[in-house]
Amino acid sequence: MIKLAILGSTGSIGTQCLKVLENLNKKNIEVVAMSCGHNFELFKKQVKKFKPKFTASLTNKENELNNHFTGEDGIKKIIELSKPDYIMMGISGSIGLKYSLFALDYCKRLCLANKETIVCGGDYFIKSAKLKKVEIIPVDSEHSSIFQTLLGDVKPKEIFLTASGGALRDYSYEEILNAKLEDVLNHPVWNMGKRITIDSASMVNKGLEVIEASYLFDFPENKIKTYICRNSMIHGGAIYSDGTMKFHIGKPDMKIPIAYSLTYPDRILSENNKVPLDKIDLNLLKIEKEKYPALTIAREICGIHSYQIAYNSADEEAVKMFLNNKIKFFQINIIISKTLEMIPKLYDLNYEDIFKIESMSRKIANEVKL
Ligand code: MG
Repeated sequence: MIKLAILGSTGSIGTQCLKVLENLNKKNIEVVAMSCGHNFELFKKQVKKFKPKFTASLTNKENELNNHFTGEDGIKKIIELSKPDYIMMGISGSIGLKYSLFALDYCKRLCLANKETIVCGGDYFIKSAKLKKVEIIPVDSEHSSIFQTLLGDVKPKEIFLTASGGALRDYSYEEILNAKLEDVLNHPVWNMGKRITIDSASMVNKGLEVIEASYLFDFPENKIKTYICRNSMIHGGAIYSDGTMKFHIGKPDMKIPIAYSLTYPDRILSENNKVPLDKIDLNLLKIEKEKYPALTIAREICGIHSYQIAYNSADEEAVKMFLNNKIKFFQINIIISKTLEMIPKLYDLNYEDIFKIESMSRKIANEVKL
């Protein structure tokens, strides 16, 4: 019996993880703990159905459920008490790093959907995971695809990951400059949280993913190629020295990588996910650099720990400003680059430094003069 804790159960990853568990319909995964942020009504329904022993939320509703803990410490407490074998890390944003680091002391496998854990945690996180012998299984669809492609083979020359191109992929450069919030939130393929949808349109998301792939698979950024795949059917792959290319292809459905992270090395999910082979378009497109400056910036800073933190934090702040109609869409890029100019270039950060740089970056991002 595998004991599973799901952190962020009411979010996009969490809700799909619960659907996967229903589909698996296997008696060998038991949900022992669940946490949510503020969506307590949905959370109560989930708890009723999955009956975890321990629950936590960021609300102040201590008394509404049995064994319910609140606040950041509450989330840590349920990890401690439930002693899970696996943790599904579905909390979004850089706050996720704190819980991921904490989780390393308690679980054998971290199913990682929180890319900030890698981007902001950098070497500190990767080294801690190795030291504590915790398996990191990526849930992000592109990284899951590369993870699977690399199994049982020599190291390829290059890896690649794809982007849908986001909501603005058919906009001209001029149109992107004037994109409205509702245009940006209208993602062509994936239905996800607001920040990641905006990050898809700016390709900050792809930038974070290049950095994530660099750490997870140990490739420099120039060996990680990025292309647009309009139907999001090709998620990623590898290119070998003999010219062989392996593509990972599948329906764009997050339940597939979520299930794989839980059942690896098995594949147990049984949904009608097959796409007829003659319907698969293998056409990958080049990414126009001019439209997506944030991707170029991410490549330039990949491997520089303090810059990675600043890149992510500045984006989190800029996205909030954009959601509140305080800035234009394209100014997200400017806030990121101006924040980076003010941050010292530092490697090998420790725990305290990581969070110091993080709050420094947020402050700077909010003070950028546009
Ligand atoms: Mg992704």
